[in-house]
Amino acid sequence: MAQSKKLIVGNWKMNGSAQSNFHLMAELLRTDLRAEVCDTAVCVPFVYLQQVKTQINEANPGDLARSDALIALGSQDVSAHESGAYTGEISVSMLKEFGVSYVIVGHSERRQFHHESDQLVAIKAQRALAAGLTPIVCVGETKEERESGMTEAVVKRQLAAVIHLNGHCISEIVLAYEPVWAIGTGLTASPEQAQEVHSVLRAQLVAAGGEGAKKIRILYGGSMNPKNAKALLSQEDIDGGLIGGASLKAVDFLSIISAV
Ligand code: PEP
Repeated sequence: MAQSKKLIVGNWKMNGSAQSNFHLMAELLRTDLRAEVCDTAVCVPFVYLQQVKTQINEANPGDLARSDALIALGSQDVSAHESGAYTGEISVSMLKEFGVSYVIVGHSERRQFHHESDQLVAIKAQRALAAGLTPIVCVGETKEERESGMTEAVVKRQLAAVIHLNGHCISEIVLAYEPVWAIGTGLTASPEQAQEVHSVLRAQLVAAGGEGAKKIRILYGGSMNPKNAKALLSQEDIDGGLIGGASLKAVDFLSIISAV
């Protein structure tokens, strides 16, 4: 178990429109988000960061980076480069200046469709940490890897690359275990399957980062929904959720938050 406060993060992926975002955020912001027991964030497409930031600020005037902001702002990716001739990329300093708190790195969709390597993911995490952003580092095995008994080796290899590059800063990350076979498929790891992997990851973090690493939040992601959230979130080493599909419906996202 990491901190007493869980973290629930919505990953909107490449979904939304100005109109649908407005309604979704309005519903989230009008509800009791249980801020005393749960931190909440939404990772939205870059072009909608301004819209969502404005809405959050109107509901909760002040600095978005404050620890008591109702909903923190996150992005779904970031450049591995600092600045310069990288057309189409967004840097950590731009995100930081904008008021973003979290950056997802190494999501399986980026590893799969954009061929992001463990090394590249580790560099992105390093850039985020150096800029004072919290990287949400995703690791997870494919169906084939699970079926051939490689789950532990795969997630440990993915995490080892991040530990190797980030050394003692490792305790500043958020880690997300997202079995690839469970993302967007409706298949979920059972609470026991998830807990087993989370405890392996926790041990690896503590071996690398010592006592400080015990507080790292390890989220579960993969078809988490209002029905399975409670059982998953009550596992010893599951410190929150990274929610894709269910974060697009206010009623579902809110009921996952209530499950905390
Ligand atoms: C994700 O994209 O990180 C995710 C967990 O998606 P879903 O909840 O839709 O499986």
